Amino acid sequence: MAVGPVLRMPEPLPEPGTEARTADAPAELARVRESLEAVAADLTARGEKAGGEAKDVLDAQALMAQDPTLVDDVEQRIDGGVTGERAVFEAFGAFQEMLVGMGGYMAERATDLGDVAQRVIAALRGVPAPGVPESDTPFVLVAPDLAPADTALLDLDKVLALVTRDGGPTSHTAILARSKSIPAIVGVTGALDLVDGTVVVADAVSGVVTVDPSADEVAAAEQRIADRRAAAAAPLTDGALADGHAVPLLANLGSPDEAAGAVALGAEGVGLFRTEFLFLGASQAPTVESQTASYTALLEAFPGRKVVVRALDAGADKPLAFLNDAHEENPALGLRGLRALRVKEQILRDQLTALAAAQAATTADLWVMAPMVSDAEETEYFVALGRELGLRTVGVMAEVPSLAVLADQVMRTADFVSIGTNDLTQYTLAADRMLGSVASYQDPWHPAVLRLVSTLGEAGRAASKPVGICGEAAADPLLAVVLVGLGATTLSMTPAALADVRLELSKHTLEQAQALAAAAVAATTAAGARQAAESLAG
Ligand code: PEP
Ligand code: MG
Repeated sequence: MAVGPVLRMPEPLPEPGTEARTADAPAELARVRESLEAVAADLTARGEKAGGEAKDVLDAQALMAQDPTLVDDVEQRIDGGVTGERAVFEAFGAFQEMLVGMGGYMAERATDLGDVAQRVIAALRGVPAPGVPESDTPFVLVAPDLAPADTALLDLDKVLALVTRDGGPTSHTAILARSKSIPAIVGVTGALDLVDGTVVVADAVSGVVTVDPSADEVAAAEQRIADRRAAAAAPLTDGALADGHAVPLLANLGSPDEAAGAVALGAEGVGLFRTEFLFLGASQAPTVESQTASYTALLEAFPGRKVVVRALDAGADKPLAFLNDAHEENPALGLRGLRALRVKEQILRDQLTALAAAQAATTADLWVMAPMVSDAEETEYFVALGRELGLRTVGVMAEVPSLAVLADQVMRTADFVSIGTNDLTQYTLAADRMLGSVASYQDPWHPAVLRLVSTLGEAGRAASKPVGICGEAAADPLLAVVLVGLGATTLSMTPAALADVRLELSKHTLEQAQALAAAAVAATTAAGARQAAESLAG
């Protein structure tokens, strides 16, 4: 939750006109060169300031602004009679098209090149560059959407919250924002009508943005922010309900570099390691050796602890060039996750081999699971392959509703099930999690989703097998209690949410959690389920 004045992301620049140039060609070219240099210097300076991965992205963009082939092309177009702005627009545009045509990693760089072109055109016009605005005082950033590179670069001292028109609550931009502890409210229709300087209360838990709040509303928001700080300052005990029933609190991670931060926030282990995040830019499948090194680094951060690693979940919003090479009209319903791995089995074998090597080299308790699994047959395939390659604990994610419906059959083979509520919600409600217009359907409080969780919980109990939660739902404190009431044995979330969830669990006994769960599953809508649980929780 955050309270503060709005600052909007500048509109994209209009396309430069095709009118004839009036300045002479050498003078126009000199102006363009000056702008290219200024943009490159600015990008390099921003990279220095941001450090880490952001520095690599920005250094690469600075190089693009100095690319001699591009400068030659701009020069020829100026000689042809157009303005410097138009020449930059056309030359960069042609280069972008070429990159898109190359596909995969190169195609993804086209957006970065487009951003450089916008910056150069802005410099030529003497207007502010598009992108995250800068301010000396903290603000709530309002934008159509943010590129992951923008999100990675956000100044945490200045950006109080993000409000975007596009994107669903579990889009990876939202996940990245949450991992930085920035409240993010996405898919807000009308967000772009907000005027700079207007004060808003942005509540990421309810997804509501209150414009021009009353003094009481501001006071209530500030109280909640203070409560949150108090939860964050509470001792880092292991997750447990009020009656002592243990609910291990685990972390969702995308890189071994995040491990130390998660441990510092009291993570008892890792409940979801998203391996595909390691290889998003790669055009070739990673080698067994490089993967072994990454997984060993991760496991070494959790000696004696449980670490659940997910096999590559490529496709839809996380395409990997070496796994997803065909165009699909509906990639979320396509050759994604285990389906894609099964087609290119050697890539899966290499990954499981690397994981087994990391397991042998460390003392962590490694569990490995497959994403996007539909039924018991696919479960048997993955578990058999995992065992053949030496893995001790092998399970599946429950993301496709069919797997939840057939949970009893799946439990015969899987060592455990971890529920990915983001995709389980997307597929149960038939609502693309990336699409702002259907964001209201992407609500894991929906009783249809809760009933599937209940089916999985019961099957787990009957087979004495663990059923964890690793979707964003586990990060919503009251929903976390409901999920435990439905039979979840562990909760895994972005480390920033651990403190709030730990505090909420400590307020309810198992019997009370079950009562909250019963009230929620009996509701007819997501809002009704939340209300039912809230009024029982008091
Ligand atoms: C999920 O779908 O809930 C999940 C945890 O996986 P991801 O968000 O990476 O798709
Ligand atoms: Mg998923």
